[in-house]
Order: sequence, then structure tokens, then C-alpha cells
Amino acid sequence: MALKWKFFKSIHFKIALVFVLMMLLTLETVGAVFVRQLEYQNLNTFKESIQLKPYINTSLKKQLANRNQIKANKQIQTILQDADVSNNAEVTVVDARGNIRGTNQSNEQSLVGQKNTDGDIKTALYSSKTIEKTTSSNNNRYYIQVTPLINSAKNQNNIEGVVYIRANLSQVYRNINNITIIYLFAAVLSIILGLLLTLIISRTITKPIDELKRQTEQIARGDYSGHVQVYGNDELGQLAHAVNNLSVQVEESQESTESERRRLDSVLDNMTDGVVATDRRGLVTIVNDEAIELLGTSKQAVVGQPILKVLKLEDQYNLRDLIEDPGQVYLDFSTSERRLILSAHFSLIQRKSGFINGLVCVFHDVTAQQKIDEDRRQFVSNVSHELRTPLTSVHSYLEALTDGAWKDPELAPKFLHVTQDETDRMIRMINDLLTLSRMDSGTQKYDSELVNINKIFNYILDRFDMIVKNDEKKHYRIQREFTKQDLWAEIDPDRFTQVIDNIMNNAVKYSPDGGVITCRLYEDHNRVVLSISDQGLGMPQSALKHIFDRFYRVDKARSRAQGGSGLGLAISKEIIESFGGSIRVESTEGRGSTFYISLPYESIEEDLWDDGEA
Ligand code: ADP
Repeated sequence: MALKWKFFKSIHFKIALVFVLMMLLTLETVGAVFVRQLEYQNLNTFKESIQLKPYINTSLKKQLANRNQIKANKQIQTILQDADVSNNAEVTVVDARGNIRGTNQSNEQSLVGQKNTDGDIKTALYSSKTIEKTTSSNNNRYYIQVTPLINSAKNQNNIEGVVYIRANLSQVYRNINNITIIYLFAAVLSIILGLLLTLIISRTITKPIDELKRQTEQIARGDYSGHVQVYGNDELGQLAHAVNNLSVQVEESQESTESERRRLDSVLDNMTDGVVATDRRGLVTIVNDEAIELLGTSKQAVVGQPILKVLKLEDQYNLRDLIEDPGQVYLDFSTSERRLILSAHFSLIQRKSGFINGLVCVFHDVTAQQKIDEDRRQFVSNVSHELRTPLTSVHSYLEALTDGAWKDPELAPKFLHVTQDETDRMIRMINDLLTLSRMDSGTQKYDSELVNINKIFNYILDRFDMIVKNDEKKHYRIQREFTKQDLWAEIDPDRFTQVIDNIMNNAVKYSPDGGVITCRLYEDHNRVVLSISDQGLGMPQSALKHIFDRFYRVDKARSRAQGGSGLGLAISKEIIESFGGSIRVESTEGRGSTFYISLPYESIEEDLWDDGEA
């Protein structure tokens, strides 16, 4: 059904319809003129054919003037029979008194001599004018002509009578009808043929149009493989050419857009910065992999969402703020597990006209940078603080001495002793700081060599044995649990000694009640592991992750009282890591701590040594 309506709406049908209507109009006009002319011609011919010859009229006039009516009637009869009027026309002669004097109809001879009753004859007799008219009776049309017979002799116009002619027009009209029917038939036939021809011809117009329509639809769908057939160089041919060119151009521009898009995608995906682009309403349209990763979300969850929501900026900014360039914005995406600070820059996507099409936000992870900045600030504050405390104390003792205490033989040496201790602590701290600074800048020298760890560890502990033995206030015992196997590692012996010294010192320092310090040495998964456990104060769990930070101390007062700087473990960590090892701590508050040092184990080829000795 729809297909049927489609046909009636098509140009194909409309062209045919217009053509048929034009033909109808033309044939109608031509037909009307033709039929009119045909009728006129035929009637004229018919009329002429039934006219009595002039000499017959003269003879009739003569007979009507004849006084001998009977003879005259006979003569009239003869004249009429001889006249041979065509088309069976009925001819009746009536004299001036209205008596019928003759007729050519053999079956109506009885009327001769009777009074005429016809109105037209009477009128003609009175008016002396020819009457012509058409009447119809019994479904037949008749032509009636009443011609007065006027005797113009002796300068007198005497009407002698009339000739009444009545002829059946049916034949004439039949002929006209027949010809009209033939004309109509020809017209219908020509319309049908014309319609067929128009349909065929209009098909040649609509076919290329259909093809053009199909091709443009194909182009719109993104299929550029088609090609419109060019049938000629007329307007449609030129249009087909234009569509073919258009197809090629659209394909090329589509390809270049596509490759541009791919390039942009690959640039975006390979960027180390996160990129989020929006439409003009601030809804996210493009987001790259890095952004997804940094924001810890998925593409589906972000695309179509407002950028302010995605970047968690709803509370601080609105879209207008972002458009008016808020400069650098820090985004805090920290979770309970990790800290994540992003630095974001916003820029506008603008048309040449200045119309804002959207926003682009480029952001990157600045957590490390922030941490460094924070650490640096913290470090400067720590150093100042750490130096100020001993300096203040030195300053106050020196002040007391200058104020007169130097004269006091008891106080003066005490005060000088304290200032010496404090300056010693400062020197130690500054040395530690210098060491750390060298380590940070990579200028710290390590004289690494293959060292027998059992040997060096024993050597250091022997020294501590001596120290703890001499401590009369507290009682410590150092217990060694060493593997019998010799364990070798590539280390700088002096630095290694520094680390063990620091840990051992701490074990002593933070075990105010003495106790056993257990030192173990063993091999584990191809690593040399040393552990030093004490039975001292231990540390709270929260402190464990900071213990290797610079200046960190669990109990500042105690550490300071012990002469600690809070840098020992930080330096130890740096040293052990420079050996490719690691250091960690386990501790229970009030029960003690264990420090573990793990170093890469260097196995010694026994055979090699044997060969060397041999
Ligand atoms: P300090 O010079 O203060 O000892 P360290 O870096 O050596 O600095 O140690 C940092 C902090 O770690 C100490 O202040 C102390 O609070 C804690 N600490 C280190 N070793 C132990 C230990 N064996 N027992 C308890 N606390 C310890």
C-alpha cells in the first residue's frame, strides 16, 4: 500500500500525469474545434445538396402563375419528380393562398389541393422571407427550409407561393458522430500511447534521480564504494558527476578526519598526562587512559557526566569559573590506601568566532612533587628546631657563666661540660646531615668489597660486649645466634659498621632496664639476613612506618636526652639500600624491637679458592 502511494508521489508519476493532462487539454480543444467544424461543413454540404436548382424554382413560379390549376398541378408534379432532390428530402409546393400544389412524396399526393396548416409556410408567405430551421420529432432531427417564390416581373414583387423542403438530418449527425467516435478513439489511444511513452521517458529522468538518491543515502551511511552511472551530459549527467566527485571528496575528508581522530586518540592514550574534554555544557566527551587511571574510574562512568562532578570540584567551582580560567587547580584524589594529588590546567575549545565549544582539562600526578616540597619544608623546620634547642641551652649556660657563674668553682666546670655535650651533639647532627646530603646528591663514596658478614658482625659485637660489660648501671647481655655457614656480601665495611653501631646503640639506649640483645645471622631465600632484637621499650605500631624518616623520634625528649638526632636510622636505611639490601623493623610496645637487615648473598665458589691456593 505504502509502495503504491510512493509511486503516486513520485516525480515519475507526476511527469506522466502532467503530460496526460496536457494531452487531454490539447485534444479537448482540438476536438471541440474539429467537431464544430465538421458539423458546420456537413450541414452546409447537406443543405446545398437539398437545394432546388434555380431553374426549377423558375418553372414552379411559372406553374403557380398558371390559371389552369389542374394542368399546373400536373406540371408541378412532374417538375418535382424530375428535380431529383437528394437525401430523400420532402419537397412541397404551396401557392400564395396556402393551398398545397404539389409534393414529391408519392404517398402524400392526396394532400395536393388541400389547405396547408404549417405555421412556417404561413410566416414565409406573409413575410416573403426564407425560413430555415431545425426541428426534431420521433428522435429524428429535420432540416426545414421554406423559400418564397417571388415573381418580380412588371416591377412588382408578387409572391406566387413557397417551396417547403424538409430533410432528415439523422444521417448527417450519424456521420458526425461516427467521425467524432473515431476521433475520440484516436485521442484515447494517443493518450494511452503518450502515457506509456511518458512513463518510459520520465523513467529516463527519474532513474538517474533514483540512483543519485541511493548514492547520497549511501554516502550519508558512510559507504563511499558506490558510483552513480552517468547517462549523458545533460543537467542530470552533470549532477551525477557532481555527486560522484562529492562522494570522493567526502570519503577523503572522512578518511582524513578519521586518521586525525586516530592520531589524536593515540596521542591522548600515550600521554603521561590525563586529559578530559567536554562539550559546551561541560559534559565529558573525551577521556584518555591516563585520566581514567588517575581518577580511578572507568570510561563509561565518566563520559556524559559533568566535568565538575568527575573532578570532584562541585563544591569549589562552577562551570563559569572554569571557563574564566581558574589557573592551576589541585585535585585531591587521595584514598585511605594512597595519597594522590593532581595538578589540573583548564583551557577552552573555541571557534574562530569566539564561540566556546567546550573545555579541556589536562592534569598530572604531583603527589611526589608535593611530598618532596612538604618534606623539604619539614626538613628545614626540623633542622632549625634541632639546632635551636642545643644552641639555646649553650646560650643560657654561657650567659650564666658570664653573669658570674665562671667564678663558682663547682658550677663552672658543670656548665662548661654541658655546653661541650651540646656542641658535640650539634657537630654529630651536622655530620649526619652532611652524610645524608652526600647520599641524596649521590656523592657519598662507598668502598664496597666482598665481606664475610659472620666475621664483621662478630667483630662489631665483640666491641659492644666490651661496652656493655663496662656499664655498671644496667645489665645487658648480647646473645649471638649465627649460622655456621660463611655468608658473604658486597658491602662497604665502614658504612656497614656504622649501621650496626646505630642499631646496637639504639637497642641499648631504648632498653633502660637492660636485658638480652639477640643478634642473629642466617641465610634466607638467597639473602643474608641479620636481626637485632632487644627487650626494651619497643614502639607503637603507628610509629613503625615513620621510624626511618629523617628526624623522626618516638619520644623526642628521651631521644634528645640520650643525645640522639633522629637521623641514625634514616642514614642506616640509605646505606643498606645502597648495598642493594633492605631494612625493616618489628616491634611491640613495652616488649622490645627487632631490626632486620637483608643483603644480597654472594655465594663463593669454593673450587675457585681451592684452585687459587693450589
Ligand atoms: P635517634 O638518634 O633518636 O636514636 P634514630 O634514627 O636512630 O634516632 O632512631 C629514631 C627513633 O626510633 C628513636 O628516636 C626512637 O624513638 C626509635 N627507636 C630506634 N631504635 C629503637 C629501639 N631499639 N627500641 C625502641 N625505639 C627505637
